[in-house]
Amino acid sequence: DLDPPNVTTTGNHENPRDTLQGGLLAKSFDQKSCLSRYQSSLYRKPSPYKPSIALISKLRSYEKLHKRCAPGTESYKRATENLHKLSHGSGEQCQYIVWVPLSGLGNRILSLVSVFLYALLTERVILVDQRNDINDLFCEPFPDASWLLPLEFPLTNQIDRFNWRSPRSFGNMLKHHRLINNSSIKSFQTSYLYLHLVHNYGEYDQMFFCQGDQSLIRKVPWLIVKSDNYFVPSLWSLPSFQSELTKLFPKKDTVFHHLGRYLIHPTNQVWGLVTRFYNAYLSRADERLGIQIRVFHHAGFLQLVLDQVVSCTQREKLLPEAQEEEVNISKKTTPKLRAVLVTSLNPEYSNNLKRVYWERVSSTGDVIVGVYQASQEMHQQRNKKLHNQKALAEMYLLSLADNIVTSAWSTFGYVAQGLGGMKPWILYKPENYTVPDPPCGRATSMEPCFHSPPLYGCEADTGGTDDSLKIASPFVRRCEDRVSGIKLF
Ligand code: GDP
Repeated sequence: DLDPPNVTTTGNHENPRDTLQGGLLAKSFDQKSCLSRYQSSLYRKPSPYKPSIALISKLRSYEKLHKRCAPGTESYKRATENLHKLSHGSGEQCQYIVWVPLSGLGNRILSLVSVFLYALLTERVILVDQRNDINDLFCEPFPDASWLLPLEFPLTNQIDRFNWRSPRSFGNMLKHHRLINNSSIKSFQTSYLYLHLVHNYGEYDQMFFCQGDQSLIRKVPWLIVKSDNYFVPSLWSLPSFQSELTKLFPKKDTVFHHLGRYLIHPTNQVWGLVTRFYNAYLSRADERLGIQIRVFHHAGFLQLVLDQVVSCTQREKLLPEAQEEEVNISKKTTPKLRAVLVTSLNPEYSNNLKRVYWERVSSTGDVIVGVYQASQEMHQQRNKKLHNQKALAEMYLLSLADNIVTSAWSTFGYVAQGLGGMKPWILYKPENYTVPDPPCGRATSMEPCFHSPPLYGCEADTGGTDDSLKIASPFVRRCEDRVSGIKLF
């Protein structure tokens, strides 16, 4: 029996456990190799958002494609052998997209999910660059076939050098008209292209989000992509993708929620961090609140941010006000336990909150507030196994809360809200060292924000714009925490 003992689930006890998440997950997996895949339903409330039949069937056919083309197959062997030929892609049975990790873990998860959606839409096989710690963080998501790009992949040594200036970058090829005209059908004469979808991308790289350019890219057997962004909202601008996307996601703001839950399964080691913490501090609470505190461009504690957190949580009634104890308060009812999970690089925020609710009583008298923090890593680190594992565990723990408060701009928070299916209260970015008024606001959707959407339209004469919303589809709106960003709602 793989169920952990004595878990007080937040789940619905009347319904049998939906381990496969409404059909989102495939059945044929070895349970022990990835406990989180099966046990997450013990810790989560069942999602109110059911995946569409179209999405489920798309995922099942993707899994078949993946198995047919994965490393180790004849098709993969042939496709890699053809890498150095000047192929137009004709006759290739399997086409690939290689995801290369970039930036912090939140950014990575967002770009991974975006690339996976693009792979689904274009019938490409996603493979992930495994040279960092991907294997220590996530289980294999597809049955009977690996998603790890073999280390001996012929371009491995070049991947790190790929950037927007690279000769095989899509933007560069486009800019220099490196296209061939074959009976008036244009195409790239290359077996691979590098896609630069990083926040600093330029006009030509951004043409990735244009219909005509997608037909050029479509013929190239191998794509290698670097991105630090959740570029899903702009895929909705492409007419050829739009109709399929609306079928797959009739409720548009569930893209990350479903694909994240499908793709992101913490390894057993990370799952241990999640479950031990949950069982020790959160499982017995009547309600769980997550507070994700991320302060950019400042390493230490900021009193201002603590004031903002207190002001937000009390104003929004997520936490009770704390007041001096009155001796004659009658306490008839058993108080409810509200567990607060604080995530932050610094320990001071949770220490201060803890002190407030220990030294004082809650104004309503019927709530006991317990404050907990898992790690205090102090500084962001790159490619350190345990550091990243803790970060993933904490994103996941936040996603198990009933409500969350997140920090503006932070992809760490986006992952938690998306996995959890929650509209967070966003702590607005403080300007001029003052607590913003209001200190926070409720997000309109649980979708992550695309921080750097294209600023150039697809027509030759569009030119740049300072309003990315003008060239986006009607399914998106401006992000609450970043005016230049867009999100599905
Ligand atoms: P973003 O920078 O807030 O958008 O989020 P990212 O996850 O992309 O990058 C921040 C990185 O800093 C994380 O991946 C962690 O490595 C580290 N970090 C930031 N906040 C926390 C935290 O609350 N807990 C832990 N464990 N790590 C954090």
